[in-house]
Amino acid sequence: MKHILLLTTGGTIASRRTADGLAPELDGSALAQRLQVFEGHYHFTVRDILHLDSSNIQPEEWQLIARAIYAAKDDYDGIVITHGTDTMAYTASVLSFMLPGLSIPVVLTGSQLPIDHPLTDATENLRAAFAMAAGGQSGVFLAFDRKIILGCRAVKTRTTAFDAFESVNWPLCATVDGSGLTLHPEALPSPPDRPCRLLDALDPGVFLIKLTPGLRPEIFDVLLQMHYRGIVIEAFGAGGLHFIRRDLISQLQKATDAGLSIVVCSQCLYERSDFSLYQVGRKALSQGVIQGFDMTTEAAVTKLMWALGQNSDPAAVRRIFTQNLAGEVRFVV
Ligand code: ASP
Repeated sequence: MKHILLLTTGGTIASRRTADGLAPELDGSALAQRLQVFEGHYHFTVRDILHLDSSNIQPEEWQLIARAIYAAKDDYDGIVITHGTDTMAYTASVLSFMLPGLSIPVVLTGSQLPIDHPLTDATENLRAAFAMAAGGQSGVFLAFDRKIILGCRAVKTRTTAFDAFESVNWPLCATVDGSGLTLHPEALPSPPDRPCRLLDALDPGVFLIKLTPGLRPEIFDVLLQMHYRGIVIEAFGAGGLHFIRRDLISQLQKATDAGLSIVVCSQCLYERSDFSLYQVGRKALSQGVIQGFDMTTEAAVTKLMWALGQNSDPAAVRRIFTQNLAGEVRFVV
């Protein structure tokens, strides 16, 4: 029998109704009691590492989770992490960068209804997560609604529906149906060719700007004053920023000259951006911004926090963005 470690962090899956609303009150042993369905199929150990609504999961918690995985990786066949759905895609993305060379499956899951609710989706999601964690395919994944998504391609797209997550610009890694868990090889990361490392330095000083028509360029001055070191801009369509009347382009220059790393991607959820297509994009590229291509916002933000944590030199950060580390980006050729 495969030995799976279940790390719990809170979220709706472990929540109970309290006077203040749903709060993550159930611990791992309470979750385990509800998983009798797994008896005889998996040998599993439960460890509580956090008790948080995932809105409270931030870079410090990502470090704690990454360290827990790193410490346990040689003792288990796979790891399942229960986590709130709201920021699960960020956690799945950042773990993909923090643990290069990971040689076991790490699968995040959660639910839209608490595990004690009679209509809960928790058991279904845990079933898929455990099957993936026992399957031997290395990498970070997110299991939800019978789908297994590559961690750095997951996006939460629905607030209440059971199919809350999508795999954006990437095929599903596996699906669950009457034939069991079917892996989709074209979507799976290649097995690691070097030992796992824990690269857990992160810089939370990354700001996300969703561009709106007429956005005032002075916002960059404010971010500089606040000592942000990185900015992700969700620009328009395939890639453009305004420069008439309110000139964002000259502000980009000022910010990159001041040592900020700026990643540009699209506010369209699907398909890739290419800032070399239009004049409004090329002008931005000429100011030294980094292209995010088809990365999700979650992957772009966390990759930038991670890259800035690893390096103080903007040229080194830029070099990191020329690499596909975990399947998070396909470059425009
Ligand atoms: N607010 C909850 C959380 O992210 C939502 C959920 O788990 O579905 O922790």
